[in-house]
Amino acid sequence: MSDAAIPKRLLLVAACALVDADGRVLIAQRPEGKQLAGLWEFPGGKVEPGETPEETVVRELREELAIETKVACLAPLTFASHAYDDFNLLMPLYVCRRFWGVPQPQEHAALKWVRATKLRDYPMPPADAPLIPFLIDLL
Ligand code: C5P
Repeated sequence: MSDAAIPKRLLLVAACALVDADGRVLIAQRPEGKQLAGLWEFPGGKVEPGETPEETVVRELREELAIETKVACLAPLTFASHAYDDFNLLMPLYVCRRFWGVPQPQEHAALKWVRATKLRDYPMPPADAPLIPFLIDLL
């Protein structure tokens, strides 16, 4: 059987555009040693069995940024999808304007609050970059 006949794994990742009181968006730099190291992404992670994507976002923001939010504070904005070499990624993007605590990087190399119109200045994974126009329209 040729490789083309083997279906690629579908990976469901939930991501979040955290928005501060000034309307800036938080991006996080992937650390050395991980796939796509050095690129700036919207925080988030894999949806675990038994979780809704919204629950994933709440958990990942706690684990990655040490902040708290609630499912009710998340608004769905759009979906990203990208065919990576080894899997197909499907990634809903949520917007969160209400959270508790100050984000501190727990797993990322750095965090940055950026105006939506400046997001293109930061190299992003191929799944994240097409989300920028949606945030520019929203913010
Ligand atoms: O963060 P983690 O490595 O668990 O994410 C799994 C994969 O999902 C990454 O290797 C990357 O290919 C993709 N991803 C992405 N954009 C994000 C988060 C994850 O493309 N914001």
